[in-house]
Amino acid sequence: MRYEAVIGLEVHAQMLTDSKVFCGCSTKFGSEPNTQTCPVCIGMPGVLPVLNKKALEFAIKTGLATNCKISSYSRFARKNYFYPDLPKGYQISQYELPICEHGFIEVIVDGEVKRIGITRIHMEEDAGKNIHEGSGNYSFVDLNRAGVPLMEIVSEPDIRSPQEAAEYMKKLRTILRYLGVCDGNMEQGSLRCDANVSIRPAGQKEFGTRAEVKNINSFKFVEKALEYEIKRQIKVIEEGGKVIQETRLWDSNKGITESMRGKEEAHDYRYFPEPDLVPITVEQKWIDELKASLPELPDAKRERFVSEYGLPEYDADLLTSEKVASEWFEETVKLGGNPKAVSNWMMGDLTRLLNEENKGFDECPLKPVQLVDMLKLIDKGEISIRQAKTEVFEEMYKRSKALVIKLIGIPSEEAVGKPVVEMLPTPEEIIKEKGLAQISDSSEIEKAVDEVIAKNPKEVERFRAGDEKLLDFFVGQIMKLTKGKANPQIVNEIVKKKLS
Ligand code: ADP
Ligand code: MG
Ligand code: ZN
Repeated sequence: MRYEAVIGLEVHAQMLTDSKVFCGCSTKFGSEPNTQTCPVCIGMPGVLPVLNKKALEFAIKTGLATNCKISSYSRFARKNYFYPDLPKGYQISQYELPICEHGFIEVIVDGEVKRIGITRIHMEEDAGKNIHEGSGNYSFVDLNRAGVPLMEIVSEPDIRSPQEAAEYMKKLRTILRYLGVCDGNMEQGSLRCDANVSIRPAGQKEFGTRAEVKNINSFKFVEKALEYEIKRQIKVIEEGGKVIQETRLWDSNKGITESMRGKEEAHDYRYFPEPDLVPITVEQKWIDELKASLPELPDAKRERFVSEYGLPEYDADLLTSEKVASEWFEETVKLGGNPKAVSNWMMGDLTRLLNEENKGFDECPLKPVQLVDMLKLIDKGEISIRQAKTEVFEEMYKRSKALVIKLIGIPSEEAVGKPVVEMLPTPEEIIKEKGLAQISDSSEIEKAVDEVIAKNPKEVERFRAGDEKLLDFFVGQIMKLTKGKANPQIVNEIVKKKLS
C-alpha cells in the first residue's frame, strides 16, 4: 500500500520590536540574565499590560503579506499552564479571535506552484528561559525573553511532503525578512517550528491521526524530522498498530523523534479572555496604510526579475530569496552591469566567497560598482573572463574586506555598509599591479604576429597550402610570445588576415 503524508506547521516568529509586547523593557538579545525585566514582565500582582502598537503593526503586515483577512476586532486570551519560566502562570495569547485569518502563501515544488493555506496568525508573548547549569539540585530562570512579542503562524494541513514543508518554511522566512518583522534565525530560535504530521493510504480522503513534532530548529531538520516521523508512522500501521495522538520531540543527535506526552497528559489550557487588556479594534484606514507601505514581496519581485531583466526563473528565485541580495543585484544592473552576467557572478563566485565566511549579502564587503567596473573591463577586452575569475575578482573581494576591517577596526559584522566606496580597491589597480592587462592594441599584436610568421616559414607555407589546423599553432605561438596577454580574438583575426 502507498501512503501519503499530511502536514501542517505551527511557526513561532519572534518579532523585531525594540521593546516587549506588554511593557517597555528592551528585547535586545544576549544581555546579562534578568537585566531587561520589570514588574509587568516578571508577573508581579496588580500590574497592567499595555499592548505595543508596533507588535500589532508587524502582525498585520505579516497577515497582509500572506493574503490573510485582517480582523477589525480581535482579542487576547489567557493560556493557563504551569512552568517555571512563565512567571504569571499563564501566557497572554490570542485564541478564538486572532488578528489574522484565512491566508495563503505559494511555494514552488518540482517546478509547480503549490498554494498552502494559512489558518491564522496570532500574537502572543514569549516565556523566559530555564538554565540548567552547575552541579547543584537547582536551575536558573532568565526572564529577559519573557514578554518578547511572538507571532504564531498556523498553516492548514495542506503540505504533502517534507520537501514541501521546508519550502514553505523558507518562503515564510523570506517574507518575514522582507517585511523586517523577524530576523528568521532558526538556530538562535527567533523562528521556531512545530510540525503536525499524519499519514493516510493514498487516495483516502479522511486524515489519519497526527503526531506533533517539537524542537525543530533548522531547515535541514524540518525535512529530516518529518522524513523520520512519516517512516515511523508507516511502520506502525504496517505492523498492524495504530498511530496515537501525541507530542513527540525531535532529537537531532539521534535523528529520531521520541514520545514526550500523550493525549491524556495534554494540557488543558483553560483559555479565557484576558480581562486586563481591551479588545483590539483596527480601522480599515490603518490597514490600507500598512498595505500601501508593504515592500515589493518576493513573488512579485521574482516575476519582475524574469520579465524586466530576462533572467531565468532559477536565477530570479535565488536572487530574490534575500531582499538585500535582490537590491545588490538591481543596484549593479542600474550601474550598467549586464543582468545575466551580474547574476552569474553573484550566484557563483560571490556567493562562494560569502559562504566561506558564513556571510550574507548584508555583509558583502564588495560594492556593486566594483563588479560593474570589472565587467566593463571584460567587455572592453582588457582582461579575459578567466583572468577575472582567477586573478581579479577574489583579490578585489579580499582587499575590500581587509579595508573594511581596517577602517572600522573590528572584523566585519558591524563594519559593512559604511560609506567606504571611494576608497575601495578597483579592478584597474589590481590589473595594473599584477600586470594582467590584455593586449588589445592591434599594432602591438601585429608586431608579435609578424615575428612568429618570420620565425616559422615552413608552417606558413603549409597553412597557405590549405592546412588550416595550423591556425591554432600560430595563435599558440603568439600567446606564448605575449605571455598570454594578447586578446585571443584579435590575434585570430590578424593571423588570418596576414596569412590569407
Ligand atoms: P493544536 O492547537 O492542538 O496544535 P490545531 O487544530 O491548531 O491543533 O492544529 C495544529 C496544526 O495541525 C495545524 O497546522 C493543522 O494544519 C495541523 N493538522 C491538523 N490536523 C492534522 C492532521 N490530521 N494531520 C496533520 N496535520 C494536521
Ligand atoms: Mg499545536
Ligand atoms: Zn518588562
